[in-house]
Amino acid sequence: MNKPVEFTPENENAIILKEYRNVLKSIKRNITKEDKKLIREAFTMALDAHKNMRRKSGEPYILHPLAVARICAEEIGLGVTSVICSFLHDTVEDTDISLDLIRLKFGDKVANIIDGLTKISGVFDQHEDRSIQAENFRKMLLTLSSDVRVILIKLADRLHNMRTLDSMSERSRLKIASETAYVYAPLAHRLGLYAIKTELEDLSTKYLEPESYNYVKNRLNETKIQRNRYIKTFIEPITKDLDEAGFVYEIKGRPKSIHSILNKMKKQNIPFDEVYDLFAIRIIVDSFGEQEKSDCWKIYSIVTTHYKPNPDRLRDWISNPKANGYESLHTTVMGPKGRWVEVQIRSKRMDEIAEKGYAAHWKYKDNPQAAKQTSSIEAWLAKVREILENPDSNALEFLDDFKLELYTDEIFVFTPKGELRKLPSKATVLDFAFDIHSDIGLKCIGAKLNNKLVPINHVLNNGDQVEILTSNKQNPHEDWNDFVVTAKAKAKIRDFFKQAKLRASAMGKEILERKFKNAKIPFTSDALNTIIKHYKLPSVSELYYQLASEKIDRTRLNIQEILKVEPNTTTENQQPESVQKNKPKQTAIDSVILGENEKDMAYSFANCCNPIPGDDIFGFVTVGEGVKIHRTNCTNAIGLMSNYGYRIIKARWAKNELNNTGSFLTSIRVEGIDSVGIVSTITDIISKQLQINMRSISISSNEGKFEGNIFLEVKDTKHLDSLIHAITAASPLISVHRLDLN
Ligand code: MN
Repeated sequence: MNKPVEFTPENENAIILKEYRNVLKSIKRNITKEDKKLIREAFTMALDAHKNMRRKSGEPYILHPLAVARICAEEIGLGVTSVICSFLHDTVEDTDISLDLIRLKFGDKVANIIDGLTKISGVFDQHEDRSIQAENFRKMLLTLSSDVRVILIKLADRLHNMRTLDSMSERSRLKIASETAYVYAPLAHRLGLYAIKTELEDLSTKYLEPESYNYVKNRLNETKIQRNRYIKTFIEPITKDLDEAGFVYEIKGRPKSIHSILNKMKKQNIPFDEVYDLFAIRIIVDSFGEQEKSDCWKIYSIVTTHYKPNPDRLRDWISNPKANGYESLHTTVMGPKGRWVEVQIRSKRMDEIAEKGYAAHWKYKDNPQAAKQTSSIEAWLAKVREILENPDSNALEFLDDFKLELYTDEIFVFTPKGELRKLPSKATVLDFAFDIHSDIGLKCIGAKLNNKLVPINHVLNNGDQVEILTSNKQNPHEDWNDFVVTAKAKAKIRDFFKQAKLRASAMGKEILERKFKNAKIPFTSDALNTIIKHYKLPSVSELYYQLASEKIDRTRLNIQEILKVEPNTTTENQQPESVQKNKPKQTAIDSVILGENEKDMAYSFANCCNPIPGDDIFGFVTVGEGVKIHRTNCTNAIGLMSNYGYRIIKARWAKNELNNTGSFLTSIRVEGIDSVGIVSTITDIISKQLQINMRSISISSNEGKFEGNIFLEVKDTKHLDSLIHAITAASPLISVHRLDLN
């Protein structure tokens, strides 16, 4: 790493020039004369723009863009464009240089990358508020859609800042280090930049947990000689066989990162001495194309001839690479002295991709295996974009889901057509459905898994073949979020409920407006504020929502009382409660009591919503058919109430024997996954267990799903609820709800 250098006005220029030459040398691809000229121009422009600026350490500022460019070229393997962009990455933000000038001189590609970098700079640095940070982070990831190099250069920028963090103040150090651990290291991991990810993690641990960091670092140093001796003994028989077999290879025995050792100590609650896999042996074989895979397995068999492998710890990321492109064969074997040793086997190409990640794929773009991996990262980026571009998704929630996904392991599952899909481990049927398409997720009722039916919360395993079953009648349930693990599924489910809440609010508003209209009180924001205060609610929309969802009992909502307005006694259907109570006792023939003057009118139950005792109801005076009783949440009701307010009359259920006989017609909708005896299970519960009369039943089954309507007679809503509950409890494959015919 950089040696400390004394800066004097005399040697400064020499140092800058030397660093510039180092950058040029580190570009591994062929540079044309034209490229060289552009690089020189970018360098001169940056040098001039930053000429009066110094870093906190006192060194000339230009050394920072130079270092970023070198990391891009040397450690990530990026090319000329990224070097030019690295030189200029801080100019638009910190100097007089405009984006237009950059566009004029270097073209659109460079200008767009610089624009992205400028927009995301200070994402975390200027705001304390985590939600603003999250929103900015979302914007930052959106730049992925223009050019992934924005993120790669940003990571190089962050890495250099972390390497030189010592010169910052304590407060900035902690802030920058925690952002690095929180966002940048996971991002590097996801893009397959293992070397950079590991260094970022170790550097942030160094500043966030200096004591633990130093402890592990010292212990690693103390045990170094002993460890090297062990590694030497371990690899001796292996190298002998590899040589005999004629392999060209390299073996590295490296300690694991301080961060990962510390993690292990914390997770397993063990002291340093008990962390058995302090190091991993890596065998990198020099072979090409078809040969790569078979050579890795040959070497595996050599290793396991000498040391017994732990069968639970074989990881074959050669046949099925990780989504970030990682390919390698990992095994853990029992070494001398009864110690477990992890051995990683891979080809030279796989190793370079493992170290340099995304960018290294381009180098191998003619290699079919590497091309497949590149497109899998592209697919991941496309998925991230899709989630991000949804304007409704909440940035903070997104960030949490997204971060969750960055580090998780993967499983591989197949579609019915045999297409392979990657999902995070612990993904469920529902995650898979959302992965295919949001609409399929929202309508998913289960799946055929290897030809067996499973519910939506079934956790998938490697190699499962999954056929999603959907129903148009399906809608997301509140508990869905408890068992999905992918960011996409979580975001889509949340959006659905947000939309549902919005719709409910619109309904709640109509209810309230009608109350105001009937009470002849102007519908003003002052009045609304008084009501919100009365219920201690945060907003008007929450009031609407609670009214629509019946969290606030609309029949008890007395706006005159809350607003302290004299009741308008001339309005017949808005009698205050006290007047109602004084009414003469009803005879036991009627199940419904209508408002004061209409009490003798003939009434009947509306067919559209089939009210049963316990429902909120109202009467509607029809032409020629007397009074029709509707449920207040009947979809027809909203229209009736708003258009014909004067024909609405109050109605409530009488407390009498008639209403206890169980002769109110209602209907339920059942649907789910077909399995043997499901219909008789349902009918048994209805007629035998609960002794409810069924009027009619129609159930049809198709492609493993069934759906149907059952008309039956119940006493009241409680009775109906207990029925629905009993059926739901009988099988996770059935969903039941009360049927609304309109
Ligand atoms: Mn910078």
